[in-house]
Amino acid sequence: MAGAVQDNMTEGFMSGLAHYVGDDNVIVAPDVRASYETDWTRRWHGRCIAVVRPADAAQASEVLQMCGDRGVRIVPQGGNTGLVGGATPRGSAPQIVLSSARLTKIGDVDRGAGQVTVGAGVTVAALQRTARTCGFEAGLDLGARDTATVGGVAACDAGGLQAMRYGTARRRIVGLEAVLADGTIVRRLAGLPKDNAGYNVPALLVGSEGTLGFITQVRWSCVSRKEARVVVLIAVESVSEAVAMATSLRWGVPSVEMIELLTETGIRLLGDRLSAPLPVPPAPAWVLVECADSVDPSERLIEVLSDLGVGERSAFAVDASSRRRLLRLREALPELITQDGISHKLDVGVPLDSLSAFYDELRQLVRERSPSHRLIVFGHLGDGNVHVNILGPDPDDEAVDAAVFELVAEHGGTISAEHGVGVLKARFLPLVRSAGELRMMRLIKQALDPASILNPNVVLEEE
Ligand SMILES: Cc1cc2nc3c(=O)[nH]c(=O)nc-3n(C[C@H](O)[C@H](O)[C@H](O)COP(=O)(O)OP(=O)(O)OC[C@H]3O[C@@H](n4cnc5c(N)ncnc54)[C@H](O)[C@@H]3O)c2cc1C
Repeated sequence: MAGAVQDNMTEGFMSGLAHYVGDDNVIVAPDVRASYETDWTRRWHGRCIAVVRPADAAQASEVLQMCGDRGVRIVPQGGNTGLVGGATPRGSAPQIVLSSARLTKIGDVDRGAGQVTVGAGVTVAALQRTARTCGFEAGLDLGARDTATVGGVAACDAGGLQAMRYGTARRRIVGLEAVLADGTIVRRLAGLPKDNAGYNVPALLVGSEGTLGFITQVRWSCVSRKEARVVVLIAVESVSEAVAMATSLRWGVPSVEMIELLTETGIRLLGDRLSAPLPVPPAPAWVLVECADSVDPSERLIEVLSDLGVGERSAFAVDASSRRRLLRLREALPELITQDGISHKLDVGVPLDSLSAFYDELRQLVRERSPSHRLIVFGHLGDGNVHVNILGPDPDDEAVDAAVFELVAEHGGTISAEHGVGVLKARFLPLVRSAGELRMMRLIKQALDPASILNPNVVLEEE
């Protein structure tokens, strides 16, 4: 076993875990545990008694049963790139991190169905490579692709850059295998296009953020490969102009796959920090668009952009390296913000026609709280989903989070579009979910995990 056993747990428990998963997969050494105990943003951290890494559902089942018998809580973790505190230990009760790191098996791609079964610990990048090798695309992409896992995107119902075209993870997941709190293994991996024989168990587990089961395998439905791609970056005068542009592109250009928004403070940050000159002038907002098709999608895109009067204020990229240069601007932002401190990262969504008013009111709100706070907004414009980043407030100060979520609710939006509720938003859920919905969620949790050992205080606060 790696490292010293914690005082508050018996040797018996640890050696029992090691019996099922192997000595090397019960990690107790504090220096090795540390990376599992703090999240990507550094806002969330806690202590676990061990990190446990099962190799399959059967081993995970034994671990869950042992934890259930001892009242030890379980925090499922994949790549630990989640941004809402759901994968890091919390509170003082004994808890383990249950890691999917060894669940990395990739099955054969079923070319007829366009589906593949992969272990929950397979990274999004590895899934994408597998799909491409067989002439498909995964149909889901996000900046954290090299670390985020398929189990993690399933658990969060992640969205990402292509969600406007291919949907969130929920649309791509056609089956899964998971272990419930009492050790029951639930397996539904056939991926039948039509199958309404009973409740849709995978659908319940997708988006459950590790509170209803530990996902061990996922059946993924790929999309057809589109070789011809074009990326364009456009400087616009306002978020309102960006929204109008997104609407025209969405309905006027069938090949559009991604429409992203960058706003003034983020653009300034890129200008200040990146060594290469900006490809278009700094502006109140930028719109970054990617189109993909089996034949060159440029013609229709240019037609629509010309109608919108987009000329010199845009940069167009067709070859792979120029496309990557433009896409990199958007991807660099989260990293640059993190370099400047621990930001309050709030992933929210509002109806597209409210986005511009929401943005103006948000700026006002943050300015009024403190002129020294920095607000950086960017995100998935095509889905009305923006990432609100606020640098300045103490990481533990929830007041600014509360104010932003209230504003979102006033605009008929959601406090979580794709990152999940985690611990960050659990107490704010009543802002956007009715009493009936919350009761149903509690009844489901109570039925599947009566002792609340699976990720307590994530999604629903303990009563
Ligand atoms: C740079 C960057 C860019 C990002 N971009 C996007 C984006 O565009 N769109 C988006 O949606 N998200 C984005 N994210 C957030 C994050 O990558 C996603 O939420 C992703 O789905 C998390 O996957 P993970 O494997 O890292 O999960 P983790 O962070 O390990 O866990 C996230 C949640 O899922 C649960 N979980 C993890 N694995 C399992 C499992 N096997 N079984 C049950 N529960 C499990 C955890 O308990 C936790 O509640 C980004 C993050 C970063 C750092």
